[in-house]
Amino acid sequence: MTTNMKSENPIINQILDAYKPMWSLGHAVSLMGWDFETYMPRKGTEERGVADSQLLLLHKELLLSKNFVDLVESAKKQKEGLDDVEKGIIRVLDRGITKQLKIPKELTEAESLERIRGNMVWRQAREKSDFKMYEPHLKNMIEIKKQIAEKIGYEKHPYDALLDQFEEDLTVDDLDEVFGVLTPHIQKILKKLIDSDSPFCKGSSNNSHLEKSKYDVQKVDELNREILKLLQYDMERFRMDVSTHPFTESLGLNDVRITTRYEGTDFKRSISSTIHEAGHALYHLQCDQSLSVTPVEGGSSLGLHESQSRFWENIVGRSRPFIQLIAPLIRKHVSFANQSTDEELYLYFNSVKPDYIRVDADEVTYNLHIAIRYEIEKMIFGGELSVSEIPQFWNDRMEQLLGVRPTQDSQGVLQDTHWSSGLFGYFPTYTLGNLISAIIASKMRKDLNSYEEDIRKGDFGPIKEWLRLKIHQHGSVYAPKVLLKNAFNIDGYDPNYFTTYIESKYLGS
Ligand code: MG
Repeated sequence: MTTNMKSENPIINQILDAYKPMWSLGHAVSLMGWDFETYMPRKGTEERGVADSQLLLLHKELLLSKNFVDLVESAKKQKEGLDDVEKGIIRVLDRGITKQLKIPKELTEAESLERIRGNMVWRQAREKSDFKMYEPHLKNMIEIKKQIAEKIGYEKHPYDALLDQFEEDLTVDDLDEVFGVLTPHIQKILKKLIDSDSPFCKGSSNNSHLEKSKYDVQKVDELNREILKLLQYDMERFRMDVSTHPFTESLGLNDVRITTRYEGTDFKRSISSTIHEAGHALYHLQCDQSLSVTPVEGGSSLGLHESQSRFWENIVGRSRPFIQLIAPLIRKHVSFANQSTDEELYLYFNSVKPDYIRVDADEVTYNLHIAIRYEIEKMIFGGELSVSEIPQFWNDRMEQLLGVRPTQDSQGVLQDTHWSSGLFGYFPTYTLGNLISAIIASKMRKDLNSYEEDIRKGDFGPIKEWLRLKIHQHGSVYAPKVLLKNAFNIDGYDPNYFTTYIESKYLGS
């Protein structure tokens, strides 16, 4: 296994050598992050906080050291002589350096301070369901973010500067186009589903025992592990543990870790989380080994990354052939499901119900939750909405789009941790992930004519190999829009693949 990429270009080689200590600091911070969420004793929090911020500081010093910045600058000048991987390395490093240089130290510090304070108050406010309590912190964080957006710079909309941090080159124009089509179309599909008394909407009441009965955690853990085995995960490069909020942590290309959750009821959540995170993990596991210990190992963007998790979780994992494949395992491990038919399990996994909470939303309604957050963030940074107006706007839009109106702030504006963590511009990448997953499925089915049969038989080799060739192997060599163009000849994030997928799955048209 090679971990020493060698280039023909001496400057690139110097850059890769100088990058190794930075990579190693990232490796340590990742391992510490994983440990924090899984096994660290609670009282270790403060010391871990010190170690974490010191290592990140060291990383920043190395990245911005004159010698390293000069190397990247001189590589930039020879752009035409570089191959795609070398260009990718320079693009990724240049983005990192520019961002760090543009944002003054005071703003970075103000943000991390507000993150700690705001997050604490947000937790209490959510418990008490009291937006007013959290409001001054949200205001402060938004002020900081507005200043950061000005420092980063943008062409048209201040929010563009924040979007680009999570999804390279993503703009308000892109998203207006996406949601302009997606939101009304999904609303129409949802209305049809509800009006026609669809089995997908009745699914939850018909299968309420599957949702509400208490399961044996150890048995569902065995079930998850059997599913990972079916999906052919190499347990010598991968592992699964437990945490409240499931996540994927990649320490490199050959040590990729996921977590899953066991809440004790509604076992589909645990299974779906496992498959979702395993989808993220596969992106790293199938990245080309020659990119290991370079700035371009791993995924191209958050949207691309989320497309991998959503493809496996929803498009494969909630499909009829997949449910048929795992149904015998479910009946074996979940005692109260032992009489459930394949079709009942299929409807249980795919029940549609407009509700308040984004993280529990089904495939049909999920993006409506994101649409609301996108509208709010865009208006906030465009100066069209004030912080005190957010709850009212939120509830009105919930009612218009989903037909439910939160009666408490904890069901509405206070439900997500993102804003208190300073993550403005992050939410839209969830929707991009869903849209890209549908693009992938549509293109894949054209290439693999035994796609459904392969899933039913549990032969995931062809699907994984297709994903490896089109997406995974490249790591972050290409920016997301370029990757989509190269792999699928697609400009931007066309929402029509997703609406077609939802329409045909849920309305059979
Ligand atoms: Mg995810």
